[in-house]
Amino acid sequence: MKSMRLMMKALYTITFIIILATMTNKISGQEDNRYNLLNEFETYVIEKKGTERAWTGNYTNLKDDGTYLCKKCGQALFSSDDKFDSHYGWPSFDDEIPGSVKSVPDADGLPTEIVSSNCGAHLGHVFEGERFTARNLRYCVNSVSIDFVPEDLGKGRYGTAILAGGCFWGVEYYLQKMKGVKSVVSGYTGGHVKNPSYKEVCTGRTGHAEAVKVVYDPQKVSYEAIVRTFLEIHDPTQVNRQGPDIGDQYRSGIFFMNDYQRDMAQKLINILKGKGYDIATELTKAGEFYEAEKYHQDYYFEKGTLPYCHSYVKRF
Ligand SMILES: [Zn+2]
Repeated sequence: MKSMRLMMKALYTITFIIILATMTNKISGQEDNRYNLLNEFETYVIEKKGTERAWTGNYTNLKDDGTYLCKKCGQALFSSDDKFDSHYGWPSFDDEIPGSVKSVPDADGLPTEIVSSNCGAHLGHVFEGERFTARNLRYCVNSVSIDFVPEDLGKGRYGTAILAGGCFWGVEYYLQKMKGVKSVVSGYTGGHVKNPSYKEVCTGRTGHAEAVKVVYDPQKVSYEAIVRTFLEIHDPTQVNRQGPDIGDQYRSGIFFMNDYQRDMAQKLINILKGKGYDIATELTKAGEFYEAEKYHQDYYFEKGTLPYCHSYVKRF
């Protein structure tokens, strides 16, 4: 009998160690999400230092107000204020967002390469002395190396993402732990009642989803990385439920703030669909976001326990 008990004890210990090991693995897997996914052509330019053909990029003639981010890591690189027309066939800037671009001088007299200071992504080259503008610099950048967002995201400015993935306590718990995430607030959005209470939302009659508002530093983490993690910490194939929580208010949804966010979210959903996931996540234009009652904020951190309804599952 005693040996039996000892064996059981050993078995429990081993199981416990395996569970612990898996958890550690999962957490490190989550950190691998730091960089955005690149397609073949993006990899050619960004990783292999290729150059897109002149006049073929999306941003050469774009004159909208906003910020250009690193395609690979999401760091804010250039402001539309510093963009000018060089007639060379690539987007041209005469300044960078301070500290975001690194020059790599070439000893052979070739043009100076420029890379993202955060991740080393190849952006293009910088030319001096052409007298286009008073700064006398031309950052010649591949459109494919950058993403445009119609927001002012210079140093110290933050981006916003609104996401719904079931009980907001769990979503908040995991996203809060991402590097570069400044704050995650639990709340309600997507419904038709002003200032709803938790009780009202729970009836499922307000149309609202439990959601989180994520404020992040685009210099450190990208919208893509946040949405990708979001799609891995809840089950985006469940319709109007998340595990034990059932109802319209627990639906999976991405509430986009602009075209860039919509396209990025759609891209990630399409990747998962391509992998055979029957994605239920709805893409909706962001509307009013109502903060939830104070006792819902930082629920698991205050309580010191782990979420019952969410866990990390690698899907990308
Ligand atoms: Zn980068």
